[in-house]
Amino acid sequence: MRASPPRFVRKDNMGFSDFLGNERVVRAVRGMLHRERVPSAMLFTGPRGIGKFTLARMFAQAANCRRLQDDFCGECETCRGIARLQNPAELVAAGLAERGENADAAAVERTPLIVEPHPDVWLIVPDPVRLRNPVARPMIRVGQLRAVQRAAYFQPLGRRRVFILDGADTMRWSDADLFLKILEEPPESATLILLAQSPDSLLPTIRSRCLQFHFAPVPAEEIAAFLTSRAELTRDKRILAAQLSAGSPGAALTLDLAESVRLRANVFHLLENAVTGKKYGEIFAATAQLAKQEKESFENILLLFYSLLTDLLEASQGNQSRLPRNPDLRREIQSLAGRTDWRWVLRATRGLDILERRLRRNIGRQLGLDAVVVSLGA
Ligand SMILES: [Zn+2]
Repeated sequence: MRASPPRFVRKDNMGFSDFLGNERVVRAVRGMLHRERVPSAMLFTGPRGIGKFTLARMFAQAANCRRLQDDFCGECETCRGIARLQNPAELVAAGLAERGENADAAAVERTPLIVEPHPDVWLIVPDPVRLRNPVARPMIRVGQLRAVQRAAYFQPLGRRRVFILDGADTMRWSDADLFLKILEEPPESATLILLAQSPDSLLPTIRSRCLQFHFAPVPAEEIAAFLTSRAELTRDKRILAAQLSAGSPGAALTLDLAESVRLRANVFHLLENAVTGKKYGEIFAATAQLAKQEKESFENILLLFYSLLTDLLEASQGNQSRLPRNPDLRREIQSLAGRTDWRWVLRATRGLDILERRLRRNIGRQLGLDAVVVSLGA
């Protein structure tokens, strides 16, 4: 038996109790820390904003907290150091600035982007390198993986080295071999935590060497209660934000509600016009606006289409979904469902699937969207 850590009364707002939802995952992680049987690699999967990164940060704190063993005090020097990860964007920006805006491809590999809030804890994020030509897609680069490979075998200053790989699915499969080597000869006092939206986006050989945890959507009521910190929102709006977040507390916390309502209304209106297949002038004006607006990525706009179509499909089947994705448009969707059927929804979904694939090959957004909408006319 190890000596129990000194008595310490934790403040209410610190520690794992602060984590919202997915109690089963939290219990499992705490249990491993408690029994000192921590795996060398874990894979956290689930949608954006669901809490994967937050739990990984909390794990890093608990694995090294000077006062507690299967939780963290939030107050010791170690906890406070690692807590800087609560605002990773700032640390990433600082890292990029240090490397210099003009870094070329070789410099990017030579000076890998590593966020180090504490000597034992590293955060690796897809490098959003802005090479002038061509514009590179953010991804975890081989230089970053090499750095992790070297550092993973160092003795920790505290109890455990923790490497959080956010967007682990952006690593090139050809670089994954290097990463696999670390997993095959796991360092004893280090844990790698891979974060990805879906397990399928990782090589099976990597996946199978990680202890996997899938994060489930958090019930809307719990998110609404958690949103009391957004005092600017009325109770009804907090509930709506929670419903629109699709179970992701992080998404609900940052959602621009007015903008989201406006954008979804536009997308819905476009679908309405597509059904009648008439007002083409209006349709093209709407697609032009959606294609060029900058507040939301086009990818997310496509997600809005899918989300509305899913509600529409359920409504056209006569299903009153208990959890519609767009509760504020319930009546409008119901009415449109009366004028379409599942075949139409299927056609629309297929059109969007094709558009999504074409976009990866850089076809113009508006032209692509026009083609889909026009093809849906009655
Ligand atoms: Zn602590």
